[in-house]
Amino acid sequence: MKLISANWKMNMTPSQTKEYLYNFLPLVEDVKDREILLCVPFTSLCIASEMLKDKHVKFGAQNVHYEPKGAFTGEISVSMLKDLGVSYVIVGHSERRWLFGESDEIINKKLIACLGSGIRPILCVGERQDEREAGLTFKVIETQVKLALSSLEDYTDMIDIAYEPIWAIGSGNPATPEDAQKVHRFIKELLESLNKNYKGTTRILYGGSVNTHNASEFMKMPDIDGLLVGGASLDPEAFSQIVKSF
Ligand code: PEP
Repeated sequence: MKLISANWKMNMTPSQTKEYLYNFLPLVEDVKDREILLCVPFTSLCIASEMLKDKHVKFGAQNVHYEPKGAFTGEISVSMLKDLGVSYVIVGHSERRWLFGESDEIINKKLIACLGSGIRPILCVGERQDEREAGLTFKVIETQVKLALSSLEDYTDMIDIAYEPIWAIGSGNPATPEDAQKVHRFIKELLESLNKNYKGTTRILYGGSVNTHNASEFMKMPDIDGLLVGGASLDPEAFSQIVKSF
């Protein structure tokens, strides 16, 4: 099933989350042929858990720590998320990589922690502008995917991947659907080569300046299995239009 996910980043208080959900849920009430996911801040997980109980809209987190528990002040473990009914977590978003110094090794540990838990990780990969201009897009993606999945090659069916070119995030300058398609195809072929028993259940989402006008163009591409939407997901009306755009 296609997956359309919101990434609210550091936006929305718990009260605003409540209001959003009151507005959003009726707009997507009948949309059951695709998965709808809201990746909310940690502080909104409780209210999302309460309001989305028995609903078809799922909620997820934007980050997780790889240790199960202990002296890691300010961090949140997989079991804490699991206890709230979280079904997905974004791992390795470019803002975590570049603003908070998350390495491929840390991302790999986070994926390992998730896979044991039943929480499905959405691994984010994407190249910088200078890497794109240097013709390194495929090399960068290959390296990020391989390092993130190191020792997890047999479990590739248990994760989804978001291709988010960094220059397209929050810039109003998305990749063309055709360029994104090429990278998505490349990632699928890479997964096939890494895992001989790969069943093909990993969804490859596109993210980067998706909006109500361009969402349907991305979703027409054969290897774009969903979307990860930042800014445009903060408005329930706009996000519902994106969800229903294909
Ligand atoms: C994101 O941060 O995951 C994202 C895709 O942001 P935006 O849609 O705002 O470009």
